[in-house]
Amino acid sequence: MQHVVIIGASLAGLNAAETLRAEGYAGRITMVGEEPEDPYDRPPLSKQMLTGEWDADRLPLRSPGELADLNLDLRTGCRAVGLNAADRVLRFDRRESLEFDGLIIATGARPISLPFGNDLEGVHTLRSQDDALRIRGELETSQRVAVIGAGFIGAEVASSSRARGLDVTMIEALSAPMLGPLGEELAEWAKTLHTDAGVRMRFNARVADLLGDGRVEAVLLEDGSRIEADTVVVGIGVRPNVEWLADSGLTIGDGVICDQYCRAAPMIYAAGDVARWPNGLFAHFRYANPQRTMRIEHWTNAVEQGMAAARNLLLESRDEPLEAFAPVPYFWSDQHGLSIMASGITSPRDEFRLVHGTLESNRFAAIYGLRGYLTGVVAVGWPRMLRRYQAMIRDQVTWEEALETAAEIER
Ligand SMILES: Cc1cc2nc3c(=O)[nH]c(=O)nc-3n(C[C@H](O)[C@H](O)[C@H](O)COP(=O)(O)OP(=O)(O)OC[C@H]3O[C@@H](n4cnc5c(N)ncnc54)[C@H](O)[C@@H]3O)c2cc1C
Repeated sequence: MQHVVIIGASLAGLNAAETLRAEGYAGRITMVGEEPEDPYDRPPLSKQMLTGEWDADRLPLRSPGELADLNLDLRTGCRAVGLNAADRVLRFDRRESLEFDGLIIATGARPISLPFGNDLEGVHTLRSQDDALRIRGELETSQRVAVIGAGFIGAEVASSSRARGLDVTMIEALSAPMLGPLGEELAEWAKTLHTDAGVRMRFNARVADLLGDGRVEAVLLEDGSRIEADTVVVGIGVRPNVEWLADSGLTIGDGVICDQYCRAAPMIYAAGDVARWPNGLFAHFRYANPQRTMRIEHWTNAVEQGMAAARNLLLESRDEPLEAFAPVPYFWSDQHGLSIMASGITSPRDEFRLVHGTLESNRFAAIYGLRGYLTGVVAVGWPRMLRRYQAMIRDQVTWEEALETAAEIER
């Protein structure tokens, strides 16, 4: 293998490049990214960047020296527009093409927009450094912020906006914030957390339109009510960046469909928010969808999967056996001074138990079970508990065993 191309110059792509070098690959690496910046970190975009605690100079994932040491041909501001997987050729927006021996697809995801109101000033989605800088600029002069969507990004934007003392309304189609990933018990807790922090919330509310003349003035709900706002942030989910692969010959669904090794085709791998693969750790029961695949939109997975994809590409190039990628997924979210940490699968679930602490104290651990197994854990203010149950999920313990351990810890 003489030339590896990585498409997507962000978290997963960077970790793939570093792993190739760390594992001794000395050939050519080209890393191509659509954004103009060198790889930078996204979690602070909804947190420290919006509160104003950080400036953009703290976002780069690596220093220029560290990037130089990787000896990459890093092409920023360049978009891949096509792939021929059989011939191993990529096409770019600047009409050039590139041949490769190995490819890692790490093109991530982008926010879903509302079907209206996008031309109005003051309406934003949040994914990039530019988005964060624009929103921050608006928060500096805004009084009233409306956040559409009470998922993790929306909840963090609401939290950061409240930290600036702004009047914030969070609008959500479901009955509570983060209901899908947390389940109804903890979503109710999250509702209290946001209410106590002064966030106004509208649940079971559907947005009918964004109103304004040039600049947004209000959010119109389907029930006819108006929520006045001079800044609107839409956080209603993301879509994987796969359109450029439509004619590639790869299998594309909700993400690049891979096998358990993160391989989409011979010598072609995918990693991070764009990759969908069967996580063998959860193969002992059905989860999420009949194909038993998952696509994860979180930081730690982008790191680990970028590394795993690179390692397997190297193994394949040497005709050595590949290693299945079977992590216990993990993520955190910072809201109103608390860190919500979650690991494993929390949805779907047929068991839920608050095993340690109390919701009132904002320090607790709760576990989730499916088909007789422990599958997920959420912890607030208690990272040690999170790690403990995360290890049990890795060991595939049963729900009963998990409850016994919880009782022992409490004794
Ligand atoms: C505001 C925000 C806050 C977050 N907070 C948390 C958090 O608290 N905890 C957590 O666990 N996770 C968090 N995340 C999620 C985490 O940042 C992502 O999971 C991670 O960035 C995924 O990395 P990635 O490399 O797979 O994709 P991305 O970071 O999306 O990078 C993909 C890159 O590929 C580029 N690209 C796309 N298409 C092309 C193309 N055709 N050609 C060339 N380049 C292309 C994109 O421009 C982008 O630079 C947050 C995300 C956001 C946006």
